[in-house]
Amino acid sequence: MEVDRERLRADLEANGHIGEIEVEEGWGRTVLTGTDADRQARDRFVDRLEDAGLEVRVDPVGNVAGRWMPESADSGASPVAAGSHLDSVPEGGIFDGPLGAYAALEAVRAIQESSVEPVRPLEVVSWTEEEGVRFGTGLLGSSVASGIRSREEALALTDEDGESLGEALDGIGYRGEATVDPASWSAWLELHVEQGSILESAGVPVGVVSAIAGIANCAVAFEGEANHAGATPMDERRDALAAASEFVLDVERAAREAVQEGHEAAVGTVGRLGVSPNANNVVPGRVELTTDQRDVDDAVLRGLVEAASASADRIESERPVSADFDHYRLTEPSHMSDRCVEAATGAADRAGLECSGMHSAGLHDTANVANVTDTVLLFAPSEDGVSHNPREWTDWADCANATRVLAGAMADLAT
Ligand SMILES: [Zn+2]
Repeated sequence: MEVDRERLRADLEANGHIGEIEVEEGWGRTVLTGTDADRQARDRFVDRLEDAGLEVRVDPVGNVAGRWMPESADSGASPVAAGSHLDSVPEGGIFDGPLGAYAALEAVRAIQESSVEPVRPLEVVSWTEEEGVRFGTGLLGSSVASGIRSREEALALTDEDGESLGEALDGIGYRGEATVDPASWSAWLELHVEQGSILESAGVPVGVVSAIAGIANCAVAFEGEANHAGATPMDERRDALAAASEFVLDVERAAREAVQEGHEAAVGTVGRLGVSPNANNVVPGRVELTTDQRDVDDAVLRGLVEAASASADRIESERPVSADFDHYRLTEPSHMSDRCVEAATGAADRAGLECSGMHSAGLHDTANVANVTDTVLLFAPSEDGVSHNPREWTDWADCANATRVLAGAMADLAT
């Protein structure tokens, strides 16, 4: 399957000028859901889908899908779909999201120009509010389409100024009435930048993801007593931060132990700590913190949470503090389907490209879609592993090679 590298590049560069920001190094853009930049990015995407003969529809939460019905296809067959997202983080790069959306379009154009005769329709999709920056909830459009969140709940989410998603989509003309239903698809594929440096270090152009790590979040509050840092003897202190420090190390230790036991994807982080009164000469009276713990195996992930809970119990029994532990969120790991993974590795083989099996530590819309149909996630190398930054970069040759694999896999799954 041959793709047109310059056509793909032209699409990504033109999209990269929408919401473009002034930067000293790299190429940055800010495209938040429902803004004028988002409208422009969507309009251009829709134009390009229509240029390729796709019939475009928009659903009630602004997800955009274009369908190509090949002459060889059975119009009743379930489609093979691919895509990603067009929104960005503030001052993000030009590849995170747009690569997958435009690569899916390029893959369809490549199949149209090839001798492949698909028996299934092909769809190219862009999901709304993947980054969760404006309305506070990531993977939003795909969560509604996959039946995880109700349309009403999503449309009622508001930004900092109180404007709802529904109002914002109305404002840019992208609150549609059509249906985008992943459960009706035969397969879903997403190409994304790796956002890590495994592929670059290995010198491999394409990653084929077999699982997306689940995430557990716990909130813990350690309560001691604030007191004078000079006048409170060591044996009379109820230091909440010293207690919390033990907990932070236990979270780290549990993840390290899981890795040593062969669960290479396991990670554990305490990235946010609120200390009060947070004063130089006061024994800390209260600490609130949250954990971010991940693994691709559900049992391992739950084990990390149990270790954190046991740590809080232990600290409470050994130190004069109380510990309030709340495991408030669990996003379960998602597993890609064997047949889609095989389609991708087969496509890489046929293209003469080496590919690496790997897992995704970050969440992507594919994690939602995997609940309702067979999926695979592909990675293209990220230069220096950088993303969510204007310095995010993927070589044009790597973009084209990963798109060849995407196109080959789509063709395989659609014939
Ligand atoms: Zn992304």
